[in-house]
Amino acid sequence: MKNRWLILILLTVLVQWSCHLPQTTRDTVNFTVLQMNDVYEISPLEGGKSAGLARVATILKELEAENPNTISLLSGDFLSPSLMGMLEDKDGEKIAGRQMVETLNALGLDYVTFGNHEFDLKSGELLQKRIDQSDFLYVCSNAFRKYENGDTEPFTQKGNPVPPYVVETFKSASGKEVRVGITGVVLPFNRQPYVHYTSFEENLASVGKEMASQTDVILAITHLNIDQDIDMAKKNQDYLVFFGGHDHVNMRHQIGNTLITKADANAKTIYIHRFSYNPKTGKTSVRSELKKIDDTIADEPETRKVVKEWEGSVEDIIEEMGYKPDEEILVAKTALVCTEYQIRGEPTNFGIITAKSFEKAIPGADAYVLNSGSMRLDDNLQGIITEYDILRVYPYGGPVSRVHMNGTDLAKVLEIGMVTNKGEGGYFQTWKVDKSAGGKWMVSGKEIEPSKKYSVIMPQFLASGKESNLEMLGDMPRDEFEKFEINGVEVINDVRDIVIAYMKELKVFE
Ligand SMILES: [Zn+2]
Repeated sequence: MKNRWLILILLTVLVQWSCHLPQTTRDTVNFTVLQMNDVYEISPLEGGKSAGLARVATILKELEAENPNTISLLSGDFLSPSLMGMLEDKDGEKIAGRQMVETLNALGLDYVTFGNHEFDLKSGELLQKRIDQSDFLYVCSNAFRKYENGDTEPFTQKGNPVPPYVVETFKSASGKEVRVGITGVVLPFNRQPYVHYTSFEENLASVGKEMASQTDVILAITHLNIDQDIDMAKKNQDYLVFFGGHDHVNMRHQIGNTLITKADANAKTIYIHRFSYNPKTGKTSVRSELKKIDDTIADEPETRKVVKEWEGSVEDIIEEMGYKPDEEILVAKTALVCTEYQIRGEPTNFGIITAKSFEKAIPGADAYVLNSGSMRLDDNLQGIITEYDILRVYPYGGPVSRVHMNGTDLAKVLEIGMVTNKGEGGYFQTWKVDKSAGGKWMVSGKEIEPSKKYSVIMPQFLASGKESNLEMLGDMPRDEFEKFEINGVEVINDVRDIVIAYMKELKVFE
């Protein structure tokens, strides 16, 4: 009699206890998402201390061992830009992101959406080729291939149209299922003739509705800027998570029901999302963790093999281009600042050195400016700087030009480059440009006079009107140069050669 009471009490306690632990029921469907965004480098950075895709592959393997219901995704921006991608392989074909595709294939990536930089690729054919070489699936609802006759069609991957969304199904230990809808969107930033965008605002809403009608939880891979992400999250509260990109620095915003996360660029960090779906309530919860990728994490051997092969062939190519990758050109006692959020938002010593080096090539101009987007390292450089580092900083290279304009236009250009474009690649790093106490733009120490003629040195890319909001520059008269003499040495008109020549003269940066 006594025993029976005891068993009853024990059973009651057990039932109550298990009710408070929804995570442990055999019906709960747990799944994990590894998120990266804006990854341009396959190798570790900061002298090997940080990042590295072979290390990310190790984490992915660990997550798969913890829960086979694991997928990995990259929220856009990976095919360009990078030094490796700008080079040509032995057959004379531009590498243009092939190193990323092969490394991400080895890593076992599942999904990407397009970032604006995917459309850096010269032609629709080349982008199409990279998509077909990818073993991971492209998902995007609002970017389409545009043909010369004006026809628009989805990009295809191995013969199938790139879908606006996919549905993943995961199972619990007891066989219960969760259906997960995942869409992708990209901001209409890069206006290539071979790309047609439809509205990401409308598509997130309409595709969201369509996914919700056939799935249990909906997610989006969003290559948008954070203001657009927040706005979209407010208007589309059905989404549980936006796996964001484009911003390069890690952030996390909870907007009502919708979580927005972005990791640091180049996989210096990644996001790990652990989802739990309760089939009884139909509710999904998520725990998200930002994880640092550093030298405490071992390389996954298969991915490492691919990375090492690329590193080896790139060194050969650089030498063929006439650069000496290991040549030491400067000792930086202070860090040269080139992290993206700084270089695109404030004057940095590295930006100023670059603009100053232009003066060495073409002295006597009124001002020297460059679009910060031409500096792509997204990192700082300290200690011994080699020619290889300089090639990494300016993967696009390209010549500088002298542009002629009147004072009214110059003030307008500076206002756009220094204020309107803040935070973007079109933000200016400058030399001989200031603001007076009264808030007026000054060049070479004097307030700009509206009708006076000025000459400004800038990258040809900028001078030909290719930067956001600065199309007007393309209509102004300009002089082009083939080469210069710096310190008695002939220097080719390429920003990399100019900076290398100037740094060699500096020797030490205090
Ligand atoms: Zn982007």
